[in-house]
Amino acid sequence: MSESIKPRAPALDKAYSPKQVEDRVYSQWVDSGRFHADETSSRTHFCIVIPPPNVTGMLTMGHVLNNTLQDILTRFHRMEGHETLWLPGTDHAGIATQNVVEKALAKEKISRHDLGREKFLERVWQWKEKFGGLIIQQLKRLGCSCDWLRERFTMDDGLSRSVREAFIQLYKAGLIYKGKRIINWCPRCRTALSDEEKIPQDTQGNLWYIRYPLKGEEGHVVVATTRPETMLGDAAVAVNPDDDRFRHLVGKTVILPFLNREIPILADDFVDPKFGTGAVKVTPAHDPNDFEIGLRHQLPQIVVMDESGVMNDAAGPFKGMDRVNCRSNLVKELEGKGLLEKIEDHTLAVGHCQRCNTIIEPYLSDQWFVRMKPLAEKAIAAVKDGTLRFTPARWVNVYLHWMENIRDWCISRQLWWGHRIPAFTCGDCGHVMVGEEDPSSCERCGGSSHITQEDDVLDTWFSSWLWPFSTMGWPDSTPTLAKFYPTDVLVTGPDIIFFWVARMVMAGYFFENKCPFHDVYFTSIVRDMKGRKMSKSLGNSPDPIEIIEKYGADALRFTVVSLAPVGQDIRFASEKVELGRNFANKLWNASRFILMNMGDAACTIKDAVGVSDQLSVWDRWILSRGMAAIETVRSHLSDSQYKFNEAVKTAYEFIWNDLCDNYIEMSKPSLNGSDPLRRKVVQKVLLKTLDLALRVLHPFMPYITEEIWQKLPGAEGMLMVSEFPKVDHKLVNVPLETEIQDALQAVKVVRNLRSAANIPPGKKVTVRVIKSEGMSPVFERHSEMIKWLAAAEVFEIVNEKTSGHLVGLMGETEVCLSLAGLIDVPAEKKRVETEIAKIEKEKAKIAFKLADQAFVSKAPPEVVDRIRQGVDGYALQLNKLQSYLKELEAI
Ligand SMILES: [Zn+2]
Ligand SMILES: [Zn+2]
Repeated sequence: MSESIKPRAPALDKAYSPKQVEDRVYSQWVDSGRFHADETSSRTHFCIVIPPPNVTGMLTMGHVLNNTLQDILTRFHRMEGHETLWLPGTDHAGIATQNVVEKALAKEKISRHDLGREKFLERVWQWKEKFGGLIIQQLKRLGCSCDWLRERFTMDDGLSRSVREAFIQLYKAGLIYKGKRIINWCPRCRTALSDEEKIPQDTQGNLWYIRYPLKGEEGHVVVATTRPETMLGDAAVAVNPDDDRFRHLVGKTVILPFLNREIPILADDFVDPKFGTGAVKVTPAHDPNDFEIGLRHQLPQIVVMDESGVMNDAAGPFKGMDRVNCRSNLVKELEGKGLLEKIEDHTLAVGHCQRCNTIIEPYLSDQWFVRMKPLAEKAIAAVKDGTLRFTPARWVNVYLHWMENIRDWCISRQLWWGHRIPAFTCGDCGHVMVGEEDPSSCERCGGSSHITQEDDVLDTWFSSWLWPFSTMGWPDSTPTLAKFYPTDVLVTGPDIIFFWVARMVMAGYFFENKCPFHDVYFTSIVRDMKGRKMSKSLGNSPDPIEIIEKYGADALRFTVVSLAPVGQDIRFASEKVELGRNFANKLWNASRFILMNMGDAACTIKDAVGVSDQLSVWDRWILSRGMAAIETVRSHLSDSQYKFNEAVKTAYEFIWNDLCDNYIEMSKPSLNGSDPLRRKVVQKVLLKTLDLALRVLHPFMPYITEEIWQKLPGAEGMLMVSEFPKVDHKLVNVPLETEIQDALQAVKVVRNLRSAANIPPGKKVTVRVIKSEGMSPVFERHSEMIKWLAAAEVFEIVNEKTSGHLVGLMGETEVCLSLAGLIDVPAEKKRVETEIAKIEKEKAKIAFKLADQAFVSKAPPEVVDRIRQGVDGYALQLNKLQSYLKELEAI
């Protein structure tokens, strides 16, 4: 017999202490090397790439949910015998990280410009080495079984090479271009942003009606605008060609106030006659639509503010003012000049910077773009033909709508932290060079003295969209890429469906001609109990590490997954993790009981349990329940199902109800009885069932299951790499499960009566079932079992009801718990009367509230609903207590 086979089980500690277990078990997993995936293996592969958290990031509840789900899938497939890779890493997070380091520098009273590019980047790298990647340590605490040997960073050497190669390929394919366009500009971050980084917020603004005097004649044209300060950059006034009100003015000239610039009145189809007065100002350098009008009519592009939103020379008298000040001053002066016709209230969606919440300025600027339309075609087809599936499916429409209306992606950022754009310009002849190596001389004119690289860096998402294959060594054809690409499923938040998911699909097709995954699971949003999104500023987002310290990582994982039905938001509060802790304790205590009752039985988890074992009805029942649990959990976790909360619920109910509350209880007479043969069978079934339960639960609660499992007789190695159980069809007995389910229902009726009458567990009771026509056969067939599980001394079926009973119903059948001699009747009566009085008072209180019309009309309907439900709840409770009191009085 080998050393590791333990015929006699060592006892478990009295109570489960996650603190003493988790770090030790995690080290064991890491040291075993079994998180590492073997690219030379011939097994079926299963692969997930992590959504790389920002290197500045700290673990949030969103990360906890997202990464727990990925770990569940990873562990499940590893146990299924697949060569499983969960590839981790972090994102350099351009703006976010640069902001953090700039803030630190500000404390030393220096700016990045004081340091210069090179020195500044040194500081960012120093910061990254010191503080970056803390979140990786936090993911380890959560139990994530990532292949840490393959951890990547979006700016490591390999990924930087991938980014450059991707840029070159797109450039050579004519899909990357540089151009002067209106882009989203953040005057605080002083960089261009993509359309997706512009967050629209409904804002109460104004519509200002401004008079532009006609040149050489009396009168004026009135234009309406939401951004009056941009009038300084106006190049024309435009009207719709079919608008009769203005037909006579087209071709004439107006004088732009303040600057006295003469600008034409022109006709353009784009103008909506219903907006404002029907005449609009045209500002080609500060509005994307005006930019297009400007191109059609060859208008000058006049930029009136600088990169930080301060008015420039072109703004004339307003030069040097901040854009906000400029607006208020300009409006005041218009009024003074009699040029302000009126001001209207106007609600509009104002774009804000995703990073710093500053109002975005549409701004004319020289930037780099990716042509997206050609890339979108295959990505659209993939979702339409089912190559790529989304769970929940409602995201399909969101994705398709965006894809079908896709616009070019502005990829240049005026930052320093990031991948510098690999384009070089020859100062002598203007030739632009893009290639793998930095050029030392010009390809066209041979000059070598004036070659400069672009200053800008690429959007952070330009490296993330390559993530599924860049992390595997692309552009080289590596064995990892050959084995694990395309990956299987992506688990991510819906908030980055455009930023990341859609772009990865496009990149996957363009660079590797394959969809990078076949399934995307979009996680729920974690909210607080009031339904608010968790955020730092609200202070409503608990620190997951504190929760792990208090309750254990398993408890947190279990709770979060239990609370997350597909496609619905989660309402989370730290106290809810008690649910998970209680479950862990229940499992621990049950396991402890089982191991202590192995006695001298020589059975191990390797012994098969089968029909030859002279199994009782109960043994056959629990084994069949076990098979059902295996089947259900497996199907919930399989492709395109991903019913994580249903899966964990199945494991939970099997362990808590079937195993702990019922089978273990039923096994006690046999374990303590005088029949050694019977005892051995029960020991064998208990051990087998516990083994099965731990395996099924492992993906969800890896620490406690690993710790207990290694103590089971016959356990070798680690549960993490043991087999996920297979269904033994000989053990499946559905009719028996149904029958026992009925018998357990009867037990439940009695248990509920016991708790209603406040009877301590273990105290024996008398139960009488009133014989009726539709009475379930289980009362007769399983009376011994019901008697035992309900802790009844007397269990009988009688013809007529007598008083002094508490009555429960199973179907139509009345189940009566005799109260006589069980309780101190006067004391119990008093207790119930007090309880009734208390509830009546509460009920009156809320009834009063509901009678208050002012309150009801003002309060949100869901609050009123909740209160109404409260009244109903109280009425129900009162009803029960009053009939109980009546029975007490009859004794
Ligand atoms: Zn910003
Ligand atoms: Zn040249």
